[in-house]
Amino acid sequence: MHNYFTEDALLLMRHEIARAGGNEVFFIGRTNVDGIVCETETIARGSKVAVPAIITRAAGGDVVIHNHPSSELTPSDADMDIASVCGNQGIGFSIIDNNATRCYQVVSPHTEKKGEQLSLEEIGRTFATDGMMAHLKGYEQRDEQLRMALAVAEAFNRDGVVLVEAGTGTGKSLAYLAPAILWAVRNNQRVVVSTNTINLQEQLIKKDLPFLARHSAVEFKTALVKGRSNYACLRKLEQAKAEPSLFPDESSQELTTIIEWSHSSQDGCRSDLGFTPHFSVWEELCCEADQCSRSRCSHFNRCFFYRARRDSSSARVLVVNHALLLSDIVLRKETGYDATAILPPFSRLIFDEGHHLEDVATSHLSLIISRGGILKQLHRLVPQKLARAGLLTIISAAIARGLPESQEGLYAELSGLLEIHLMPKALDLCQVTEQTMDWLALSVEHDSAGPPGRERKLRITTEVERRPFWQECHQRLHTLADALNDYTSAMRGLLRRCKDLPEKLQEKLTDQLLDTGGIEGRLQSMADALLFFTTEADGYCRWIETRSGNRGVQARLCAAPLDISSQLKETVFDKLKTIIVTSATLTVGGEFGYLKRRTGFGLLPAERLNELQLASPFDYSRQVFVAVPEEMPEPTAPGYREALEAHILTAVSTSRGGAFILFTSYDLLNKVFTALAPLLAGIGLKALKQGDIGRHELLAQFRREGNAVLFGTDSFWEGVDVKGEALRLVIIARLPFQVPTEPVQQARAEKIKADGGDPFRDFSVPQAVIKFRQGFGRLIRSRDDRGAVLILDRRVLNKSYGRTFLRSLPDTEIMRGDSAGIFARMEQFFGKT
Ligand code: SF4
Repeated sequence: MHNYFTEDALLLMRHEIARAGGNEVFFIGRTNVDGIVCETETIARGSKVAVPAIITRAAGGDVVIHNHPSSELTPSDADMDIASVCGNQGIGFSIIDNNATRCYQVVSPHTEKKGEQLSLEEIGRTFATDGMMAHLKGYEQRDEQLRMALAVAEAFNRDGVVLVEAGTGTGKSLAYLAPAILWAVRNNQRVVVSTNTINLQEQLIKKDLPFLARHSAVEFKTALVKGRSNYACLRKLEQAKAEPSLFPDESSQELTTIIEWSHSSQDGCRSDLGFTPHFSVWEELCCEADQCSRSRCSHFNRCFFYRARRDSSSARVLVVNHALLLSDIVLRKETGYDATAILPPFSRLIFDEGHHLEDVATSHLSLIISRGGILKQLHRLVPQKLARAGLLTIISAAIARGLPESQEGLYAELSGLLEIHLMPKALDLCQVTEQTMDWLALSVEHDSAGPPGRERKLRITTEVERRPFWQECHQRLHTLADALNDYTSAMRGLLRRCKDLPEKLQEKLTDQLLDTGGIEGRLQSMADALLFFTTEADGYCRWIETRSGNRGVQARLCAAPLDISSQLKETVFDKLKTIIVTSATLTVGGEFGYLKRRTGFGLLPAERLNELQLASPFDYSRQVFVAVPEEMPEPTAPGYREALEAHILTAVSTSRGGAFILFTSYDLLNKVFTALAPLLAGIGLKALKQGDIGRHELLAQFRREGNAVLFGTDSFWEGVDVKGEALRLVIIARLPFQVPTEPVQQARAEKIKADGGDPFRDFSVPQAVIKFRQGFGRLIRSRDDRGAVLILDRRVLNKSYGRTFLRSLPDTEIMRGDSAGIFARMEQFFGKT
């Protein structure tokens, strides 16, 4: 059978046939590159009458499959008729028995799918003034948009990679979606579109894709794919209902509400809940790969996650976020590229908001070990509070009650393992964990300078490794890793022996054994990660960070790769056929060099890579007033903060609010906000500060007020879209350089230097320029927007690298001079209608 089907596909068919009471079921099987059916879609139950409709939904390379309830697999005359229709279209036709253990392949699928090339002429017509896009309200043909669509089409036609920087207002999402959809439908392939922000995801799903579905000549299906942990797990909900003592008392109200909601929820997604559940509660109730028995689960039919997954397997356009995409790619290294990892197999990818690629890939290839992370797993096995239940306590009690006397030997072995070893040792292990991590936290606190209460980070350098601290740290972490290893080995022993329990008892303990298995895997990964942390891992930056909170100082161990370029090339660029990377900010000083160096695109053969830089269609010279006051002190010079406050106050008075003030540190933001908020209130302007309320609500309030002044850091430099009058002034307080002492930043800079480069020029400046461009880009979001950008960091004028920042801005005049002159011009600018 495995010559024809993957195990996943077989499980699904078995399940569907059982669901149909053993009657006839028709499936369309999608094949992987080897012609093996890796996914199935259930199309019809019952009769062959539906077959013509089924065939219209299949494409060359697919397989129409059905079962013969009689177990006699010889094709009937009707089967042969269908097989011949399928064969003529390159569609395979197979018959299986009800258990999906035998297969009669009547016609094999045509596996060599030759890509149907996209016609550039057709793409051109799509974007013509009388083409499909003309259905958009206020559509204007834009050369930049058409050029992008053609470049995307070519990348599909020649299995290429294209980097497209498309300035704000280009209409880039339609420029890539239109050719992507044509390709996906005509070649019966999937295209994955990945975004960084929910805003863009919503725009694609709620606006762009429905528009294309309404007006395009082809029919296609799209799906928004969310990670497993977004869905409630029905098995866990049932278990929670039966064993509420697994949860702390304070969670009981939330638990009851979620259980009730799950009966009526359409999709079982956290976003469908009317409130945001506590992280710790949802974490215990959501789907997780290592605690799911898939088709063996009694809830599989109704399972929210698998329903969504079955639904998305037939979609041609899948919208995901970067985090999910990267998790899929990391998993794909193990499962292979032609199987379902998190996403179904795909070979064409559009990566929007592509300037995040290095950061997202880094975080997915990093590891973090925390005190709380280890303790949480151990407490699920044996709870801290006696009144609560733990998995091992439940297993132990069930075995004591349910194992017959005839299995006395097995009972002695299992109860010994549980009561003498695993249960008491879980508490010992908690203690070792607490002692180790608390010692680490205090040592790092003492070791580093600065006031207490701040977050501290100690990078493990060769210098640190020579200190007595590291010798002790090394030894303590090894002791903890050894204890975890011993413990997981005993857990594996328990799980192995539990397979000898009577079937009924095993069935009763299915959930607990499954969850215990999942925890064993997690504890083992933590033990491996601890050992990894203590070794001098080439190409990784390791650090210990501490943070003070309600529970005292907590430590985390972290490790991140320094260079992800070759990993991305091997695991993504070399495996996929078409890759489109796009954003409004991919270049620095008009060049793609930084992106190519940092993310590995530069390692691709030149003939596979295409670059395209498209300017924004907005008229920046008319729409924006940009100025840099020369008399501002440099950010590190005395008097900078006072000057900053004075300039902000004058600027926002001139614009009558409607301003974003973009900072690079909370510390400076807080000080300036505290000084200015009362003064702003005095002139009738509402001051808003990031962190005071949620980001969404803050933005809503900013839009509502019309003359508010919003003080923000990181998350307001990008991904925020305030069109129109509400935002008419952006103030950049300081060039957005990353903190050079951040461990990864520092280690990457050292590596660049060791490789012969200039870390400041090749890394720090380009990184800051991209963020600077994003910050600048907040202002003008449409052709009708007007406003001013005030740069209060004079280094753009008097440092040699300053030119790179200014050259990266759209074409517009930049006024430099004394502040009085600048504010006078600004007054005039805002005075014009
Ligand atoms: S199939 Fe997996 S995720 Fe779905 S309800 Fe069962 S255990 Fe939970």
